[in-house]
Amino acid sequence: MSIAAEEHTVVDKVQKKLYIGGEWRDASGGGTLEVIDPATEEPLCEVADATPEDAKAALDAAVSMQAEWAATPANDRAGILWKAFELIVERADELAVLMTLEMGKPVSESKAEIIYAADFFRWFSGEALRTDGSYKQFANGTSRVLVMKQPVGPSLMITPWNFPLAMGTRKLGPALAAGCTSVVKPASQTPLSMLALGQILEEVGLPGGVVNIFTTSSSGGTTGPLIEDPRLRKLSFTGSTEVGRNLIEASAKNVLKVSMELGGNAPFLVFEDADLDEAVEGALLAKMRNIGEACTAANRFHVAEPIREEFARRLAEKMASLKIGRGTEDDVKVGPLIDQPSREKVAELVEDALERGAKRVIGGELPDGRGYFYPPTVLDEVPPEARVFHEEIFGPVAPVGTFASEEEAIARANDTEYGLVAYVFTRDIKRAIRVCEGLETGMVGLNQGMVSNAGAPFGGVKQSGIGREGGHEGLEEFLETKYVAVNL
Ligand code: NAP
Repeated sequence: MSIAAEEHTVVDKVQKKLYIGGEWRDASGGGTLEVIDPATEEPLCEVADATPEDAKAALDAAVSMQAEWAATPANDRAGILWKAFELIVERADELAVLMTLEMGKPVSESKAEIIYAADFFRWFSGEALRTDGSYKQFANGTSRVLVMKQPVGPSLMITPWNFPLAMGTRKLGPALAAGCTSVVKPASQTPLSMLALGQILEEVGLPGGVVNIFTTSSSGGTTGPLIEDPRLRKLSFTGSTEVGRNLIEASAKNVLKVSMELGGNAPFLVFEDADLDEAVEGALLAKMRNIGEACTAANRFHVAEPIREEFARRLAEKMASLKIGRGTEDDVKVGPLIDQPSREKVAELVEDALERGAKRVIGGELPDGRGYFYPPTVLDEVPPEARVFHEEIFGPVAPVGTFASEEEAIARANDTEYGLVAYVFTRDIKRAIRVCEGLETGMVGLNQGMVSNAGAPFGGVKQSGIGREGGHEGLEEFLETKYVAVNL
């Protein structure tokens, strides 16, 4: 089958409606919203545009199924997660094409995300069996302390466009494992992957109403009333710090339990003793994964002065060799950015750095033609005050600066309100530990350009977020602790 024919088929196969109470239904107002292919700027299809009434119906369904799902044996919840894991993997090829069409990244990268997304269901099918508690004596020996873990209850999940499936399964995996029902609102720019996941959950026998999905052009207008609804118990959000901050504020009214996976400004530190081949490979991965549109993307490179120029040159050689194009074409490694405002922001940050004296090694010029493409770009000798060092780039731009000492490297790395992840390249084990301890981030990639892993606690400190996703910690986010004082 040609790619074009395959593209039509994968889009046609997806339900374009709202998934509420186990039924696929049109939006109550009859409205739809367009999904655009960022590589062509052409519409791909339309999906239902939920109203606040639809959002409420989704919460009604989640609330009505909460007690039943919480009482479902852990073995059954684990079994559904495992089957969903298997079905996602079985469909990885077509899900990858679908994701590329709505989001832009190369099919090989979409496929990697699909496998990563499935992995959360595999991991949490195991965690579903490990909801534990404890039992101990009061210190004075008179009574007993019984601690139990119970599902938080109906949860609202809001996910971004940059990882359209994995950011959903990273929340749904632990929620389903813990016994929580959910309402999911994917980003309006990439609703198709989440709708395809809804179909998979339905096929593997998840009871209707346990997971409800609505797509909408009015994210604030639909989720706002849900956040104010006293029946909602948790909000799990992945997206920008700006929106996250507003959602935390809105959640204060009902003292909602919140998990926030927000923006980043990851420093990538290369010390003079680093293995330079390894550092350049790590940099390529940390920068170019997802076309730089990742919260974990290396946003700024701080490189020891004696090796700075060589590092920038070698990274530029690698980045210049990456083929740009539509993600469904062979060998493409750099797809389009998500939309025109994102591309403009990247171009603006590059211009600002150049005006402040940075040197262009490669890239920096907008290509002609359709699609929101931006070329891989390396800037060297970037001054510390350049905006590109302080704002999330979300594009294929690597700004390189320098430091003179370990203390200065740590200080530069920490000079940001964000604290998601940092990357450190050094062969000195003592320095590695000192620097890892000194970094104000939730995660560190030590001689490694990627940290994402279903079994590890992913998350940030400072203004990068609250809580962790993945690992056993991810399950805890959907559990409450209840303590019973037992009089014997
Ligand atoms: P965004 O604009 O904050 O949007 C994220 C989600 O929130 C989307 O579903 C969006 O829906 C929705 N949203 C926007 N305004 C809202 C409002 N007022 N009320 C309720 N929902 C609202 O972020 P984005 O541009 O999609 O994603 C990129 C950001 O996500 C970056 O900052 C990145 O670092 C961060 N991110 C963080 C992590 C992490 O794990 N820490 C992972 C991935 C991405 P609509 O777009 O349909 O309005």
